[in-house]
Amino acid sequence: MLVVMKNDATKEQVQAVIEEIERMGYRGIAMPGAERTAVCIVGNKGPVDDIRLLTMEGVKEAIPVTKPYKLVSKETVLEPTVISIGNIKIGAGEVIVMAGPCAVENAKQAMTIALYVKAHGAQIFRGGAFKPRTSPYSFQGMGEEGLKILAKVREETGLFIVTEATDNASIELVEQYADIIQIGARNMQNYSLLRRAGQPSKPVLLKRGFAATIDELLMSAEYIMSEGNARIILCERGIRTFTNTTRNTLDLSAIPSIKELSHLPIIVDPSHAAGRREFVIPLSKAAVAVGADGLIVEVHNDPAHALSDGAQSLYLEQFAQLMKEIKLLRKTGV
Ligand code: PEP
Ligand code: MN
Repeated sequence: MLVVMKNDATKEQVQAVIEEIERMGYRGIAMPGAERTAVCIVGNKGPVDDIRLLTMEGVKEAIPVTKPYKLVSKETVLEPTVISIGNIKIGAGEVIVMAGPCAVENAKQAMTIALYVKAHGAQIFRGGAFKPRTSPYSFQGMGEEGLKILAKVREETGLFIVTEATDNASIELVEQYADIIQIGARNMQNYSLLRRAGQPSKPVLLKRGFAATIDELLMSAEYIMSEGNARIILCERGIRTFTNTTRNTLDLSAIPSIKELSHLPIIVDPSHAAGRREFVIPLSKAAVAVGADGLIVEVHNDPAHALSDGAQSLYLEQFAQLMKEIKLLRKTGV
């Protein structure tokens, strides 16, 4: 249930409502909006008796929230969430582009790619230092050494950094170096990691698991938000289907579905969806056309020798082409 406060309700009145909700045995979370504050009730198993709340000072009305996820639901927050990182705004209408290699391999590789993608319009640099690989024998990432390289990339290029935390140990390090903490598809339902990412230190990029429904993705986001971190960016990165001409199937309908259900921004990863670089530009254009707030794309200066995901990594010149084509789409107002 959502307790909507009057436009002129005071902070004390909001606090009194939260305390009353706690006396009822639930949790009340204040959700400040552009015009009014609402208090979201979480932790109730059934309907809440709202009579006591409705008679309190400053309370306008009580609205039931029908979805199992409360805080990330559009029923709770009407305006789209905009996440600011420096001068970048994710979810404000502009397509934000995150680009870089699958994994940080060495300083020269990372810097070469970063300078190129920056020169062609990327705002955020991606690169894994902790890699969740399908095989235990594959390259697992450079660890903290990789994070130090990412910090240098930020210092020298001005690009912001997104990089993955794979467990509760690596997140301690990642949050010290990254501007956005990535939670990967394989960890979308790692609830202790989600709770840890909910400590409000840095924005979180939460990728959809490859066998997860939209509701499950939103419940995972709810874990993060219920701990206090409201700065969440969702990411559609392809799901597993019977189709085998691509690594995964990009679920383009996830974007309008999420826009209908949640106020959180949603970006698209065409690289892990396709698994093949030839498809990354067309899928990126499709993602922009259906309303994605951004893209996260793998790019490599030498994909043939990449330590991970070379086949889906764009050549540098292809990244320039991608940016050109996306700009055309934006100009024509698609
Ligand atoms: C990645 O972005 O490097 C990655 C491992 O992606 P995903 O979690 O979507 O597989
Ligand atoms: Mn990858």
